[in-house]
Amino acid sequence: MSVDVFARFPGAVVTDEAEEEFRGRIRDHLATDPAPPFDRNDPDASLPPTLAWHGRLAAAGYALPVSPPEYGGRLRSLGEQLVQVEEMAAVGANSSVNLVGVAMLTPLLLALGTEEQKQTWLPPVARGEHLWCQLFSEPEAGSDLFGMRTTAVPDGDVLVVNGQKIWSSTADHADFGLMLARTEPGSTGRRGIGCFVVDMRSPGVTVRPIRQLGGPAEFAEVFFDDVRVPRGNVVGELGDGALAALRVLASERSGLSMASYAGLAAQFEDLVRLAPPGGGRYRAELLALWEALAVQRLGAIRQASAPPGDEPPLGAAAAGKLAVGTINVQFNELRARLLGPRAFAFPDDDRDVAAISERIVSSLALSLGGGTHQMQRNAIAEGLLGMPRG
Ligand SMILES: Cc1cc2nc3c(=O)[nH]c(=O)nc-3n(C[C@H](O)[C@H](O)[C@H](O)COP(=O)(O)OP(=O)(O)OC[C@H]3O[C@@H](n4cnc5c(N)ncnc54)[C@H](O)[C@@H]3O)c2cc1C
Repeated sequence: MSVDVFARFPGAVVTDEAEEEFRGRIRDHLATDPAPPFDRNDPDASLPPTLAWHGRLAAAGYALPVSPPEYGGRLRSLGEQLVQVEEMAAVGANSSVNLVGVAMLTPLLLALGTEEQKQTWLPPVARGEHLWCQLFSEPEAGSDLFGMRTTAVPDGDVLVVNGQKIWSSTADHADFGLMLARTEPGSTGRRGIGCFVVDMRSPGVTVRPIRQLGGPAEFAEVFFDDVRVPRGNVVGELGDGALAALRVLASERSGLSMASYAGLAAQFEDLVRLAPPGGGRYRAELLALWEALAVQRLGAIRQASAPPGDEPPLGAAAAGKLAVGTINVQFNELRARLLGPRAFAFPDDDRDVAAISERIVSSLALSLGGGTHQMQRNAIAEGLLGMPRG
């Protein structure tokens, strides 16, 4: 259903004729080459066909990364980007499994990468050939990202990396990681950090998947033991990785906002169908969720259409991520109430209810991944309200 639920709300669907034409074309394409099913519980079986399908999307002119064609991507208006994620979500197509490559690495390299880095790493992302992971969080440095202890000590033309990362989504399947580490051991805070690319098959990299309450092992711990990384893999200035990190965080939060909004909008009619006809006593809650999603759509447009500046738009990105994370929890909490015991007690072979149940259990994840709600509030306070750091 996607954007169709907003059809009678003038203003919520802000698209021009070119975007509507694009919607028709991508709808046709998605009908001609349907997306393979994506089962988060079974990444071994799901990832290869999904990435191959992303490659076919690119070949057909609907590449996921927003980047110039010479890097395998496609330059699209913001409205077209929104239309694409909405239409993909409406048919259950996974658009975010390579979020790190598509929505974090790509804008980072377009802003700070060398020509060689762009030519090497961007086209395989668009073609679905390389899966990327993000190696930022550490056991003692999640919200306090710049409390990281992993080191990457320069030694001639390499960096020697030692330490541990955690919560790295899809790290056990990833080809490359976008990583932060201290290039000046002993430095503190934002100084002396490097942002660089690691080949996940390098000697000394050990990945241990972490199994979650909801079932899948979507993320992993990653250990680095004297891993040698070419100096040419550093993005931007060696000790200036904090700036790169803030850019990545802003892109990550914007990407999560847009993809999560589209996913929830696509599931809204299913939610309504679980309620009694007319909504019954859930009517007001359903309407409040619909309204929140419509506002989120406008927010996604506004946030992503902000002119690029020197400073990463952390406050605006935080506002979008906080809002969609809150809607996600409310949406799934209502879904659990509407389903009742069926949400958690169902036959083993009922894959549809299993998928819904997994969504309910994992709905809090969006309030943590990409930065917790508290950290988004801090970013809004400082970035949008001009309040001093607490
Ligand atoms: C689904 C998912 C996917 C993820 N994927 C990745 C990934 O691919 N790569 C990666 O590097 N990381 C990833 N993460 C990790 C994520 O970024 C961290 O979990 C997050 O930043 C919080 O860090 P933490 O878990 O160490 O919690 P902590 O930082 O220990 O926070 C604990 C609590 O204290 C609060 N708190 C901490 N500091 C403050 C403060 N200054 N002000 C107010 N409250 C504060 C937090 O909000 C939280 O409630 C993922 C997490 C999830 C849930």
